Amino acid sequence: MVAATGFSTAKSSKIMAEARTIMPGGVSSPVRAFKSVGGEPVVFDRAKGSKAYDVDGNEYVDYVGSWGPAIVGHADDRVLAAIKETMDKGTSFGAPCALENELAKMVIDAVPSVEMVRFTNSGTEACMGVLRLMRAYTKREKIIKFDGCYHGHADAFLVAAGSGVATLGLPDSPGVTVGASQSTLVATYNDLETVKALFQANKGEIAGVILEGVVGNSGFIVPDKAFLTGLRQLCDDNGALLVFDEVMTGFRISYGGAQQHWGITPDLSTFGKVIGGGLPVGAYAGKREIMEMVAPAGPMYQAGTLSGNPLAMRAGIETLKILRQPGSYEYLDKQTKKLIDGILAAGKAAGHAVTGGHISGMFGFFFCEGPVKCFADAAKSDTDKFARWHRGMLERGVYLAPSQYEAGFVSLAHSDADIEKTIKAAKEVFAMI
Ligand code: PMP
Repeated sequence: MVAATGFSTAKSSKIMAEARTIMPGGVSSPVRAFKSVGGEPVVFDRAKGSKAYDVDGNEYVDYVGSWGPAIVGHADDRVLAAIKETMDKGTSFGAPCALENELAKMVIDAVPSVEMVRFTNSGTEACMGVLRLMRAYTKREKIIKFDGCYHGHADAFLVAAGSGVATLGLPDSPGVTVGASQSTLVATYNDLETVKALFQANKGEIAGVILEGVVGNSGFIVPDKAFLTGLRQLCDDNGALLVFDEVMTGFRISYGGAQQHWGITPDLSTFGKVIGGGLPVGAYAGKREIMEMVAPAGPMYQAGTLSGNPLAMRAGIETLKILRQPGSYEYLDKQTKKLIDGILAAGKAAGHAVTGGHISGMFGFFFCEGPVKCFADAAKSDTDKFARWHRGMLERGVYLAPSQYEAGFVSLAHSDADIEKTIKAAKEVFAMI
């Protein structure tokens, strides 16, 4: 089909062949196995700035950015130097370190709804913690999530989840018990009526509503402002908590996350990705009165051997310091707009049905007529065409998320030349698929 000359991934193939015999699917996380787009995944050797390099020496402009954390560019010299300095003092203490205060204060300063923070090691753990906290604080069990929103792989969230669950076409997962998932109610994104109906049918039983303030796990989907203000009101009217899962959007959509972008004040939030600057981190955070339920301040138990470890804290701190410099978000917005406008124009010029958009350094598009407002709309996208597009771009040195149901990310290191190269490749590939 769209083979470009000189593209070889022989070494990647060899490594993946062995990997598949010793790790399920050859990977440590499903989507990176390229199952839904077909073809071999490429195995990375190193990454710097906007580029990633595979073991065969191919160079890619990378729009995955480790699924979001690489927002200042891969292996930024300032972040690396800070990590090295911290590493010399030890990698983990299992005891308090002052860097936790520093990063917690940065999150509190950035996000007005946040008064206290608990650090974890991943976004999944952050969402598990916030779920328990929602239930502990309200003394209610049921929660509402949205079709196609992903909140990590905890049992209670693997109901109508997006991301890899959608990519692999899994309705849910074996091993998730009825008991663990029956308190998870699912509504339709951007459809307030479906939320109202659930509150009505479960009066006094709903602990809260959790959502992605801009969806990145069904592809890129933007909420209507009225949907978000309606959710805030419904939660208030029903004594339920509103939770923004900002694992992807935090410090990405704006320095204050999706909630700042939309001007909505949730009760609790989760973070991950960017606040770890490429090292494993998550956090849940929010109002002091609620957060003080968490042990040892309060009775709700949650813990972590490596939580708050100095390396991850320092990587996060340095990343946020770079991000808060004037002009960072304007640059992300400018470059990402150029990119997605160029891709959409090229797609339309070649006669394809495409729809998409961006906010700040997060973007996505679908192979269907828009608008895409919820997971059912996203599912209309031509995923076979997406697979051909993905392979064509890969062969031309552009690394995109290997699934229609994921967003893309631009970093401060993405130059005009990177964007131009990508749009040139897009024109070639759109013409051939
Ligand atoms: N919530 C959201 C919105 C996410 O995008 C993700 C990961 N993509 C998670 C939670 C889970 O985070 P992690 O992969 O770090 O466990």
